[in-house]
Order: sequence, then structure tokens, then C-alpha cells
Amino acid sequence: MSVSSVSTEVDIKGNLEALRKLALARGAHDAVVIPASDVIVDPRVRLKCLIPLCYMALRCDHCPPDGYSVEEVREMVSRYQWAVFYRVTVKSTIIAARNLSDYVSARIFDPKANLLNLGGNYILVFTITKILQKKAASMGYAKTSGFAAGNCRDPFCHFQPGCRKLMTGNNCRHPELSSPSMESCGMDVYSMAARAGWDIYPIGGRCEPESVGRGNLCGLVLVT
Ligand code: SF4
Repeated sequence: MSVSSVSTEVDIKGNLEALRKLALARGAHDAVVIPASDVIVDPRVRLKCLIPLCYMALRCDHCPPDGYSVEEVREMVSRYQWAVFYRVTVKSTIIAARNLSDYVSARIFDPKANLLNLGGNYILVFTITKILQKKAASMGYAKTSGFAAGNCRDPFCHFQPGCRKLMTGNNCRHPELSSPSMESCGMDVYSMAARAGWDIYPIGGRCEPESVGRGNLCGLVLVT
């Protein structure tokens, strides 16, 4: 191995570690550097958005049946060697608050502001992903791909008549903030989080706060 290839290897490891620490500094509860080959892409994850049909299907450009296909995601992931995977944790009293799903469906805020609080946590995930991508670009990694959690319509276009990209075919209103979510791309977030050693719980619309330990909103940046 030549001296230059050894120093490149050291640079990459150091840069990935700096990105991992940056995720923590910006609000992630945990962050790990993983080989891109550990990103699990499973078509059944995207199917979960469609059967039964998620309320956001056909209403957000990043959500199934729109957004990247499983084949496109597999091809994208195969072009990378390393990724930073992180989670933002949310108290179960917020993410599994009683009747929260009713307020989501009705598109109104609840009196205890749990929906607003949860939205803030989703925005944090979108923001960390963009911060990591920008930092990686400044390190010379120009072709990163970033993924957040959930849909981007609720946090960014809630007060708009709809997703502009879907309605008009024009550009997204918030390209500096919006990303597809890991799950909308068919990434098996649960298995990846478990592999990272994080406690993770499925949380459905009728969950009670006492029945789940905490919520996890995960994000991923494919770096190089
Ligand atoms: S941020 Fe708004 S316009 Fe952009 S993709 Fe999401 S919902 Fe559509």
C-alpha cells in the first residue's frame, strides 16, 4: 500500500468521525459510521406505506408511490462505501401521546402541543441531514445523498394547499431542507437501528405512551 493511499484512508476515517460528532453536536442522541453495504433496502418497507395506504401517499413527492423506487435506491447505495447513521430520540409521551393520530388525520394541532413538538423533532432530523451534507461537501465529498424521517409535507408545507412538486411539477418549495425519508426509500430503519444497538419500538396510531420506551427518528447520509 502506498503512503498516499494510507493517508487517504486516514483522512476518510477522520472525516467520517468528524461528521459523526457533528451529528451529535447538532442534536442527535446517537450516531454511528457504517459501511454503505450495511444499509438494508427491503421492498416490504415501502409497501408498508401503501398497504394500508398512509394518509400521506400521493400527497408528498418523497412518499410512496412517488419518490425513489427500491431499484433506484439500491443502485444509489451501491455507489457509496460509507455512511453516517443517526437517531433523534423523542419522549414516548410526545410521539405516542393519546389521540395524536386523530389530530394528524384532522390536520389540526392538539391543545398540549405534542404535534408541534413532534414536528420540531422531525425538522431537527431534516436539518441534521442537511448540515452533514454541507459539511461533507466542504470536506470534498460532493456527491452525498441524505435521508431524513417521515414526510416533508407535514413539517414544511403544512399550511400550503399541497406539495408544490406534486401539484405543478415545479421545484420543491424547500430544497434546502427537504429530503426523502429513509423508510420512503425502502430502508429498513428498524433492523439498522437494532444492529447499531439502539432500542427501537414500532409506534402505531393507537399506541399508548406507557407501551413504548421512546420514539426514534433516524437519518442517514451516504458520504463517499
Ligand atoms: S417540502 Fe413541500 S414542496 Fe417540497 S417535496 Fe416536500 S411537500 Fe413537496
